[in-house]
Amino acid sequence: MSDYEALRQQHVALAKALAPRLIEQLDWPADRLAEHRTRQLRELVRTATERSAWYRQRLADVDLDRLDETTVPELPVLTKTELMEHFDDIVTDRRLSLARLEQHLRTVATGSYLHGRYTAITSGGSTGERGVFVYDWNSWTVFWLTCFRGVLRVKLADPVLAERPAVLAGVAAAHFSHATAAMARTFHGAHLTSIRFPVTLPTEEIVAGLNDARPDFMLAYPSVLYVLAREAMAGRLRIAPRQILAGAEPLLPEIRAAAEQAWGGKVINVWGTSEGGGTAVGCDQGGMHISEDQLIVEPVGLAGQPLAPGELSAKVYLTNLYNPVLPLIRYEITDEITVLPEPCPCGSAHRRIADVQGRLDDVFVYQGRRVHPHLFRSELGREAGVLEYQVRQIPAGAAIAVRCTGPVSLDALRDRIAAALARSGLEQPQVTVETVDRFARPGGPAKLKRFISLAADCGPPRQALAAPESALASAGR
Ligand SMILES: [Zn+2]
Repeated sequence: MSDYEALRQQHVALAKALAPRLIEQLDWPADRLAEHRTRQLRELVRTATERSAWYRQRLADVDLDRLDETTVPELPVLTKTELMEHFDDIVTDRRLSLARLEQHLRTVATGSYLHGRYTAITSGGSTGERGVFVYDWNSWTVFWLTCFRGVLRVKLADPVLAERPAVLAGVAAAHFSHATAAMARTFHGAHLTSIRFPVTLPTEEIVAGLNDARPDFMLAYPSVLYVLAREAMAGRLRIAPRQILAGAEPLLPEIRAAAEQAWGGKVINVWGTSEGGGTAVGCDQGGMHISEDQLIVEPVGLAGQPLAPGELSAKVYLTNLYNPVLPLIRYEITDEITVLPEPCPCGSAHRRIADVQGRLDDVFVYQGRRVHPHLFRSELGREAGVLEYQVRQIPAGAAIAVRCTGPVSLDALRDRIAAALARSGLEQPQVTVETVDRFARPGGPAKLKRFISLAADCGPPRQALAAPESALASAGR
């Protein structure tokens, strides 16, 4: 057994040992969760101010004895730009400089822990800004459990699955620098046998592999899940997973519907972040429960003001209570969430949010006028023949690439989207719709970026690879 494998087995043992406690915490009442968060928060701020030069200065005036969730909003916000700029002063182990982590990430494919105990990951960069995050031995275990404790609960309670390890198939990122792949590698064998299918493989290969593996649980990006649901309905994909997890991209209603039609059961949506792990995890009753035993999640408006339940946030301030090595205290992420005001019928006291529908960064701004991605989604989602799509903002409208499995009237689609843009205030919107054979998922987390705004667009002219027979619906109205 290699040194890495021997260490990894210890990690698997820790995950199995911690699982019952983390599963139990799903059922804690609200007051117990709140007490626990206050205690963890004080501990985190104490560690941060003792061991991080950045926080020592920044949180110098904080009175630990009166610090709780009511006083948290008095603490300063940390942006990703600040984190990356001051990284070496923020980490609480001085050996973990950004340069050292970057060096480690370049060799991570070979399998190793940094300094025998740390795991580094990079963020998806769907915001256009890359982030690097590091977890210690214990916190990486909690990271995994926040994502998979619901699956473990199902597995451990199932008489058939109690007899053997359950098979978890992941159709996701290929590279070990990304959380999904890194988790699958570290915790392979912790009640779950992980089988990975890089999302970049041709669909036929993924389908054949899944038919072979017969997974008990499956995890996939929504864009892939949609493709797989179509394969299942066509009879080519023949699997019967007990539960399907979707994450890393918005789980659009049409994708959830297709997956539920294909496999009958419910799809569990996971709001996973590189900063918090399973930040909120889907409930049978719909929506997702925030991991309120491990995180403080503050939905806020554009100006950072706190919001009432039911209001759609512009962003979220996240405090990760379980990772003392990289303290993230009121860390700004740009996901839009809505806390559901009603208690969940399942009885969980963890606050519930609606499915995350998009990111602030996905909004297109035309001369001060904001157009939400939903405008495009609702039109594109109505086309049964459209399998995948990518919308690129252009100054006067949008250039849209679609991958189709059936007949689609590109002209009609173009006209409907142009009309919707006109209704939202654009004058003479220009729209093109073009078919492509496949979408490139270059580098990084290998997930498809559906919306590319002019502000974020610094990549190649188009990420889609045009098919030779590509039909171009001519511009504008
Ligand atoms: Zn619930």
